[in-house]
Amino acid sequence: MNEKSSTFYVTTPIYYVNDKPHIGHAYTTIIADIFARYHRKIKGKENVFFLTGTDEHGSKVAESAKSHNLSPQKFTDNISEEYRKLWKNLDISYDEFFRTTDWRHEKIVQDYLQQLYDNGYIYKAKYKGLYCVGCEKFLSFDEIINDACIYHPNTALVEQEEENYFFKLKDFSLLVLDEIKKQSYKILPPEREKEILSKINGGINDISISRSGVSWGIPLPWDSSQTVYVWVDALLNYYSATKIYPNREKFWPPSLHLMAKDILWFHALVWESLLLANKIELPKIIFAHGFFTINGQKMSKSLGNIIDPNTLIEEYGSDATKYLLISSFSFGNDGDISLEKFKGKYNSDLANGIGNLVARVAKLCETSNFDNTNNTPVNNFSAEVVKWMNQYKPDEAIKSIWKLIADFDRDIGDDKPWKLESDKLKIKLHSYVGRILIIASDLEPFLPKTSDIISKIFNQKKIRKPDSIFPRK
Ligand SMILES: [Zn+2]
Repeated sequence: MNEKSSTFYVTTPIYYVNDKPHIGHAYTTIIADIFARYHRKIKGKENVFFLTGTDEHGSKVAESAKSHNLSPQKFTDNISEEYRKLWKNLDISYDEFFRTTDWRHEKIVQDYLQQLYDNGYIYKAKYKGLYCVGCEKFLSFDEIINDACIYHPNTALVEQEEENYFFKLKDFSLLVLDEIKKQSYKILPPEREKEILSKINGGINDISISRSGVSWGIPLPWDSSQTVYVWVDALLNYYSATKIYPNREKFWPPSLHLMAKDILWFHALVWESLLLANKIELPKIIFAHGFFTINGQKMSKSLGNIIDPNTLIEEYGSDATKYLLISSFSFGNDGDISLEKFKGKYNSDLANGIGNLVARVAKLCETSNFDNTNNTPVNNFSAEVVKWMNQYKPDEAIKSIWKLIADFDRDIGDDKPWKLESDKLKIKLHSYVGRILIIASDLEPFLPKTSDIISKIFNQKKIRKPDSIFPRK
């Protein structure tokens, strides 16, 4: 295997700091964490790079800062800190936390655009259109319903006319199309790829890559009266991260960019076009997941139904929060969640499921004074877990582990080990400990703390029944 195919570089979007983190951000980041932990176990820690961070420029951030009576820098410092706190509480194992206000990034963005400009891929033109401050972009016709943005129905659209610099997106989109056809670059799930292909085939306009009158941004190197469009600034983070942190250059190109489907367009086409224009290798996989609804309703500030991930972590702990979010619906589709459903699932799958199994097996070992000296350490994943992770279906992978748990529970009932005589019981318990260590190993990317606790319990010489690992709620 060459060095490139043995490295794994996974990213979340860098989250926009105009507001605090919500459960959607937590979801994407948990999935990225799962892939990072999974590949660390297979490829070794030094061959995995997990990047997350915050997107900190643009007029919307400047406005939010103003409404809080803070300077944009102070405001972004505060919100990006909230993200880091949340990732700590959620036990997210990112390697670097990126901020677009990092001066090293600003320099790379300027150099990158200068190169495009020098090669004639950027030109100046007038632009008039309806701008959504929520999306930070001019909207196309299919993005406007009832005179409002499809994603921000409560944000008034602004008619703007500007003289901006444009990038020749139209030309490069055809090259991206070739890469998709060659499958050297893939968009998942497949229905999202179809969506992008039909949009490209429907005709693409060039995109403006600068703004006049937005001072909170990176100045264009050849015309400081304009700043870099916040989306271009943000997309380049994936690239500049491999340049500004030590020993990260070997991770290019990214293995997996994760995001929610509303920002797929920029990630699946604009980003690749910018890369191809400067002759840089494309990312391998773009994966766009679905949206949450909460009790059947869209999550929104005005409905007051936004779930703060910190509330879930306080109630259930980081592992259970991860489990509840990823197992609630299939990765890639939309899904509905509710706090009531979480409680039910916590009790059935965690307290009665894995929690009960651990207690049951440990108790059997303890009461029969089982001598646990020669169990075999497990350092790999079950075939089912590997199969689903290779298909980018972490929710199916976790389901396959819960099937192992259910089968194991059923087998204990069938075996009735408490009726076995001492020699047969020893053999049985030895196989039980082996099975539970396999489950612990499989759980490592998904429920890292639980995995660790189970391994510790069943690697003791004399196994003792622990306190409940998931107390009933
Ligand atoms: Zn919008």
